Amino acid sequence: MILGLEGKIALVAAASRGLGRAVAEELAREGAHLVLCARGADALRETAESIRMETGATVIDVVADLSEPAGIARVTQRAFEEFGRVDVLVTNAGGPPAGPFEAHSAEVWETAVRQNLVSVVELTRAVLPGMKERRWGRIINVTSIAVKQPVDNLILSNSVRAAVTGFARTLANEVAPFGITVNNVMPGYTRTQRVEDLAQKNASLRGTTPASERAAWEGQIPMGRLGEPNEFAAMVAFLASERASYTTGASIPVDGGWIRGLL
Ligand code: NAD
Repeated sequence: MILGLEGKIALVAAASRGLGRAVAEELAREGAHLVLCARGADALRETAESIRMETGATVIDVVADLSEPAGIARVTQRAFEEFGRVDVLVTNAGGPPAGPFEAHSAEVWETAVRQNLVSVVELTRAVLPGMKERRWGRIINVTSIAVKQPVDNLILSNSVRAAVTGFARTLANEVAPFGITVNNVMPGYTRTQRVEDLAQKNASLRGTTPASERAAWEGQIPMGRLGEPNEFAAMVAFLASERASYTTGASIPVDGGWIRGLL
């Protein structure tokens, strides 16, 4: 399948490692040029350099904290300065901390909302006018399987991803007449630092080991293993493509079958 991503400009948020990095690599292999951001300069620079070397893509790396308005402004302005447009927006950020309701203060809730909901809204606000003008755009939000089936001990993620899903589903209808699609991809347990951290956290909470926590997750997954970031990235690349022109407002799992629901 020819995806038609050659020469497209993609802004991939939170892309120094994990799912964001895998998405950036996949889009660059398909011929897109990239604007990437993350908070840590060193890891981001290494990621950008590795993608340039592998693919020859133009990759702009911008150090930015997506939970701050200034960070969002920095990365989007840089994209417009360098390329004059953003065709594909992939929203992503670090996941909020694990823990039950009583573990999180009002401030922690507010940070999660800024990092995982407001960042999606504000990145979208910045790129949407140009997409409407050109009558073409792809907005893809990294959410979570938690949207379909809340995950125990992740009350912040369970709550905030649902809000992103409501935002995206509504926006999809508003912008469909302009040739812009808005979709969410819901990762299941995928082998990244985030999942390693969750395994450590659950292990210390329950007095087990990270290995036994990973094994318990694998036991819940019909495919019997964690996902790989590139398996997630392939779905994002398809939704970003020319070929996904009639898919919008959807939330698509990449979870090895973890969600048990029919729809
Ligand atoms: P990760 O921790 O491995 O990587 C997160 C990336 O985000 C890093 O590049 C980090 O530098 C960047 N980042 C974090 N906070 C940021 C901020 N405020 N501003 C800018 N950059 C920031 O995580 P991951 O596994 O790649 O997960 C990505 C998203 O997907 C998270 O929101 C996570 O909760 C969600 N998710 C992941 C899984 C999984 O199994 N990996 C499952 C469901 C949902």
